[in-house]
Amino acid sequence: MKPRILLVNPAIYDFAAYDFWLKPYGMLSAAGQLRGKAEFLLFDYLDRLHSFYSGRSGVSDTPNPKFEISDRWGRGRFFNEKITNPPCLQKIPRFFRRFGLPRELFRQFLESNEACDFVFVATTMTYWYPGVQEVIEDVRKAWPAAKIVLGGNYVTLCQSHAEKLNADFLVIGRELEPLWKYVGIEPDTNQPALWEAYPKLKAGVLKLSDGCPFNCTYCSVPKVYGGFRPRPLERVLNEFELLVKLGAENIAFYDDALLFDAEHVLIPFLKEVIKQRNKGTDVNFHTPNALNARFITKEVAELMVAAGFKTFFIGFESASAQWQEKTGGKVYSSELKDAAGFLQRAGVSGENITVYQILGHPFGDIQELEDSMRFANSLGVRGMLADFSPVPGTPDGDYCSRWVDLNEPLMHNKTAFPIILMGFDETNRLKDLQRKLNRTIDNPPQAS
Ligand code: SF4
Repeated sequence: MKPRILLVNPAIYDFAAYDFWLKPYGMLSAAGQLRGKAEFLLFDYLDRLHSFYSGRSGVSDTPNPKFEISDRWGRGRFFNEKITNPPCLQKIPRFFRRFGLPRELFRQFLESNEACDFVFVATTMTYWYPGVQEVIEDVRKAWPAAKIVLGGNYVTLCQSHAEKLNADFLVIGRELEPLWKYVGIEPDTNQPALWEAYPKLKAGVLKLSDGCPFNCTYCSVPKVYGGFRPRPLERVLNEFELLVKLGAENIAFYDDALLFDAEHVLIPFLKEVIKQRNKGTDVNFHTPNALNARFITKEVAELMVAAGFKTFFIGFESASAQWQEKTGGKVYSSELKDAAGFLQRAGVSGENITVYQILGHPFGDIQELEDSMRFANSLGVRGMLADFSPVPGTPDGDYCSRWVDLNEPLMHNKTAFPIILMGFDETNRLKDLQRKLNRTIDNPPQAS
């Protein structure tokens, strides 16, 4: 008999969360490699297409259908409930919430299904661990014999903390061999992610590569995923076809270095997609993980647009040369200017190009954030302040131990840290300024 595996994507405990094409891609990819060799069930607390929203789940809370509504690119709000701030975040003057399907729904799900042999739980942000804890408690109670497996960023970055959560097995980093041994199944590494586990799918995820060749001092990617490794094109194209077949209208790329070595990785993929587009396949692509402006050439911009890329997010962080040098020299101001120009000339409007800039970085004194925001705005593109999260094990994250206790993952919270470092008023002032600048892009002044 095939082993039975439940896949769980936990609820989020945070001040803010938004469905920016969030899918538990690491877990779905691991499960895909076991396709046909195990029986799968999926419970995704963050699935906005779940029957809960149409009132068919049997849970007494009346869901507000507004949480099912998506914007034109398939993003939207999660169902959420206001809860008390955890004691260590009491002083943060913002409402703490639980985002995702009600806990009661998961308990009913466990009761109404025969126990599985394994429960895989995805973890993402380190400070979202209370959602993981909640899943473990409920599984232990309902299915005491099930083996609980945790994998993902939180367990990799905070292993000793995760070891205390009462799971049976932790998958650290990207190495899956120990997992295959633990479940006793030989994987098929050519298989795409297990997208068919969703009863209904409108948004999906693809990755052309893993890891990143850069080493920015504030980023967890080099630690969690290591160096840059492209995935075989054929495998990516199979996964793309599967997503299209299942009904995905929007696909987000989770690559951390989507444009690196574009000649051998992205461009061949784009050319294939353009061929399929000419035969009628119509999918919107998005790049929520920051693109490196340095690699946006005229050719890349034109091919991306022709293949169906609709939203472009670019990492910039600061216009200060001193800050750029100190944190890894990922991208310089002139490179951002060129990239914005290439994209705009390829037909992308400024409102669909967003430049990320870090808010609350510990070297904020040399970041000259306000000047950087105005610089990005002068290029006719939107800005988005990306709240800084002190990631343990990174040079900049560890430096923050002078302000927060990094042993408590809740203190890595990205809404909290800028407020702790810069104060509530300054944080709000900069966010207001960003909103004001963005209005000039979304509603440009009309010529009289
Ligand atoms: S911030 Fe981006 S470029 Fe820098 S190491 Fe992380 S993923 Fe790579």
